[in-house]
Amino acid sequence: MTDDWSDWAFDTRAVRAGQHRTPEGEHAEPIFPTSSFVFASAAEAAARFSGARPGNIYSRFTNPTVRAFEERLAALEGAESCVATASGMAAILAVGMALLKHGEHVVASRSIFGPSVILFNNYLGRFGVETTFVPLSDYAAWERAIRPNTRLLFVETPSNPLTEVADIARLAALARTKGCLLVVDNCFCTPALQLPLRLGADIVVHSATKYLDGQGRCIGGAVLGNAELVGKEVFGFLRTCGPTMSPFNAWVFLKGLETLSLRMKAHSANALALAQWLEQQPAVKRVHYPGLASHSQHELARRQQSGFGGIVSFELKGGQDAAWRVVDGTRVFSITANLGDTKSTITHPATTTHGRLTPEQRAEAGITDGLIRISVGLEDVEDLKRDLAAGLLV
Ligand SMILES: *Cc1c(COP(=O)(O)O)cnc(C)c1O
Repeated sequence: MTDDWSDWAFDTRAVRAGQHRTPEGEHAEPIFPTSSFVFASAAEAAARFSGARPGNIYSRFTNPTVRAFEERLAALEGAESCVATASGMAAILAVGMALLKHGEHVVASRSIFGPSVILFNNYLGRFGVETTFVPLSDYAAWERAIRPNTRLLFVETPSNPLTEVADIARLAALARTKGCLLVVDNCFCTPALQLPLRLGADIVVHSATKYLDGQGRCIGGAVLGNAELVGKEVFGFLRTCGPTMSPFNAWVFLKGLETLSLRMKAHSANALALAQWLEQQPAVKRVHYPGLASHSQHELARRQQSGFGGIVSFELKGGQDAAWRVVDGTRVFSITANLGDTKSTITHPATTTHGRLTPEQRAEAGITDGLIRISVGLEDVEDLKRDLAAGLLV
């Protein structure tokens, strides 16, 4: 088997990259549930510990199953290095801890995952790293916010829950001009639909918990980028400080990657059909989905993504009562804040994921009382329409 998959198509890499068969000749990837590894001699142990000879030492550092997942995901994102983490949040933490120091500054989109805001403000802030939040697609605001000590720009696109799209190439050019690094949370698109590194981003972070697994089973994450920043710095933080991925979870994600491309196409097709149908419902005021011609960044999304993903949000004319009626009217959708699952999920952001914001902060973020977010799964789309219609039509 080859180790270099760069010449092969995405779908081939998704199934094949990262596997190194053992002498047992297993067809599927094995799981290595071992905390440590043994050495043939004292000299061999010394050579591994000193780094003179490559090889496994301890699973906080490297593990063959985790390594297989990292190699496969790196092959998909087109990255030199990938480091797997215990969760998506651990991936973002690892980037912050490995690449930032006291006195440095971050500019982040206002529309990022809630815990990411808390991580930057309450935790990294405690160690003297300040973060400025700017509106996702206000490029003048990004530029104004950058200071001489700005080290990272951090963006998530499309955003949650309003599916706003950021121009990655434009932010990457800005980062380059200003001498800082662009970090993209690629959780919503996955490499099947969007390749931020190819658009000029320096680092990609993932919550593998979402579409990479795609079946709602495990918590995990990953950081991708070049050998210096990720292979050395981020890996160095993880091997010492410990929020690494377990081999069991790595195996689940590894198998998830094999169907990623098929699933993302199917999620996107179902989401588009549902978004178009929602736009025609009299009770619906507005639908947010980058695949709709009515989306204000539809053209950018077409240019930058090869599909529009599975997340749709829509606003009911009747406010919270109407939104809760739709949520409570469903029998197929799961009422949960998770996303990126074969099972469709439905959330009322104003009273759940964004419930701790003040009404003013919610208004600023565009989270109205009538807003519903759905993560469109792989059930039959006519059944999903029927399920939403139960609460829409009353
Ligand atoms: C879920 C999520 C995270 C955090 O990932 P966990 O695996 O839950 O820690 C980060 N970013 C985005 C966009 C997410 O949706």
